[in-house]
Amino acid sequence: MNAASHSVIDPVELTRDLIRIPSVTPADEGAMDVLERALTGLGFACRRMVFEGPSGVGHDARIENLYARRGTASPNLCFAGHTDVVPIGDLKAWSAGPFEGETRDGVLYGRGAVDMKGGIAAWVAAVSRVLARDEIEGSLSFLITGDEEGPALHGTKRVVQTLAAEGEVIDACVVGEPSSAHHLGDMIKVGRRGSLNTWITVFGKQGHVAYPDRAANPTPVIARLLARLDAHVLDEGYPEFPPSNLEITTIDVGNPASNIIPAEAKARLNIRFNPTHTGDGLIDWLNREAGALQAETGLRIELEHMCSGEAFLTEPGVFVSAVQDAVEAVLGRRPEASTTGGTSDARFIRSLCPVLELGLVGQTMHQVDERVPEAELRALTDAYERVITTVLERLQP
Ligand SMILES: [Zn+2]
Repeated sequence: MNAASHSVIDPVELTRDLIRIPSVTPADEGAMDVLERALTGLGFACRRMVFEGPSGVGHDARIENLYARRGTASPNLCFAGHTDVVPIGDLKAWSAGPFEGETRDGVLYGRGAVDMKGGIAAWVAAVSRVLARDEIEGSLSFLITGDEEGPALHGTKRVVQTLAAEGEVIDACVVGEPSSAHHLGDMIKVGRRGSLNTWITVFGKQGHVAYPDRAANPTPVIARLLARLDAHVLDEGYPEFPPSNLEITTIDVGNPASNIIPAEAKARLNIRFNPTHTGDGLIDWLNREAGALQAETGLRIELEHMCSGEAFLTEPGVFVSAVQDAVEAVLGRRPEASTTGGTSDARFIRSLCPVLELGLVGQTMHQVDERVPEAELRALTDAYERVITTVLERLQP
């Protein structure tokens, strides 16, 4: 396909078009159609991937996803993002319509402006400019989901599983989450801590406090278990990550009587862990500790675990420095490589390829009056354009 056979896309107009679609998770409302039209016009082969199943919040969900690729050569540089947005909260508290895309004093208002319809539009616009100039050496792709802000069961995770099973090769991926802290381009995210929740129940035998030999009190047992877990040093941390941390978040016995030994004691804890650990490794450790105490005391201890994301780190290297160099060349500041913050879909993509997050300033994300200065959208487009050409150049086989 010839370069320049299409028009250059304006990032502000595309952001506005996307904001005007109320795609609150899990609803799509045509958001993916808008994107597919733009990408088809740029010569991408678009493939819709619809996944259905339990939503995790009580009903079934039907989720739109899109994988689009232009070219077959290596390297394949992917952009990942989500078209779904969080609910608007209190409509009366908004000074502009959350789905109108109004610009006031050069600032574009609307749900998804920074998280992350603006980021998607900026990358699409950057791609249109790159392609208008010259044919690329390599491939560009998009992995877009409609299920990031929700339970994320039928989004990026399943697209990644499908692509991996098919042998699709992606060499590097930029996720367009609003990674910047205070100024555009001041921060990229190169990793995240993992998160594990564990629910603990110790089963005793109820009885009268005056006749302890006829009862079995679970409270001292859960206290001993929690004290052991809390005293354990998981690791010392390393340059990119603080030490892994276990927090006991609640202890519940719920016993209203002063003369009863309770039958059950419950507790919950959360572990935020660095890549020294895996969710399964931590679960094994917790189960061993509980098993040992159960053997000592004869009281049954049950644990339930839910790992909502593994820890990962994209090591410094050609990809990370190519992105840092490109951002610095365009925006005049070198982004700090950080591992702070919550989880994102990067946790699924890291099984395919090196991944990092680069996007707008996240200050108003998930808030009332979410907004982005139009100048910042254009500046991000400039930075993305340089990122695309620099990464493709440096990852040439
Ligand atoms: Zn987001």
